Amino acid sequence: MPIDRHLSQRAEGHDPTAGVGRLPARTMIHLLGCVLALLLAAWTAVVALECARVLWAGGDLQWDVLLRAPTSLSNLITLPIMAGAMLIDRLANGPDRFVMRDLLHRTRYDLFFVLADATGAMTALALVFSFGFSAWIGTAIAGAPSVWLSAMMPFWLQVPAVFLAATFAAYWGHRFMHTRLMWPLHAIHHAATDLTALTDSRQHPLDDLIKSMPVMLVLAVMGFDPDAVFVAALIGRLQAAFIHSNAPCPLWLERWVIAGPALHRVHHGAAPEHHDRNYAALVLWDRLFGTFSLPDDARSVRTGIDNPRTGDQGPVRDMLAAGRAWLEGLVAAMRRVAMPSAPVSCSRTHG
Ligand SMILES: [Zn+2]
Ligand SMILES: [Zn+2]
Repeated sequence: MPIDRHLSQRAEGHDPTAGVGRLPARTMIHLLGCVLALLLAAWTAVVALECARVLWAGGDLQWDVLLRAPTSLSNLITLPIMAGAMLIDRLANGPDRFVMRDLLHRTRYDLFFVLADATGAMTALALVFSFGFSAWIGTAIAGAPSVWLSAMMPFWLQVPAVFLAATFAAYWGHRFMHTRLMWPLHAIHHAATDLTALTDSRQHPLDDLIKSMPVMLVLAVMGFDPDAVFVAALIGRLQAAFIHSNAPCPLWLERWVIAGPALHRVHHGAAPEHHDRNYAALVLWDRLFGTFSLPDDARSVRTGIDNPRTGDQGPVRDMLAAGRAWLEGLVAAMRRVAMPSAPVSCSRTHG
């Protein structure tokens, strides 16, 4: 379907070669992209230098306080990360593919989730969808007994340790969302037929909440330094934008070290042979638990799901429909537990 759509877009005038006569405008957009990318790089460097200066002086960045606020720095940081990843994505494909109208057309659905995330609306939606549970679970997990690894490990070692622990927990959280019971919520993410750096934000608030629970629990119990958690989370956020983009990445890296655009494209594959593969940000976990898959044609795998009801009604309607489908499946599953002879009504519509 996305291949067909892509072809039809070309037929409607989105063919990059069709704009030869409008070269100056396209070149200007390309230059604008370069300027924005440079500004973003400068902004990132300033923040990184400031963090390094405070840490070097033995100060406390107090990221944990900033991270707790609903419209926090972590949410606001999302926007430049996404913008940067989009620009790298576009620039990697050359000026011919850097067409703003095409970009907006391809990303407007995902843009809703990016803005909801950055403004804190997603946190509010998670609160509504979970009937207040999201606020309670965060406090409960923060109060869990901790082994205080932060006191035993140097800071530089904590960042990779956090990444290792978080990606392990995230692997199982993600795998859980691919079960028949949880699939209606996660399907919103997989309904994307055109992957860009913004697609990572395209998540049902409950999907995001449930997936993050094992990660929060593992990190809270291990008691890492909040600064190390922040740095690892930032790296994770960048990688999440990167794996949904079309940016180049050496294949050996994706085969043995970290997930990249090719590996994650297979995860989004519409064909049955690609279902339930490549859950993790680190290749290690998928290799260890038998879910790794990187075919030769990974970069051209068709993405999306074959359920016409998901991804076509707009973000709000899709979120409500997914919440309802999930609740119905949950009730049906509970009925089956209570009455084992009841008929099965919940099914996965992946394709
Ligand atoms: Zn998934
Ligand atoms: Zn994805």
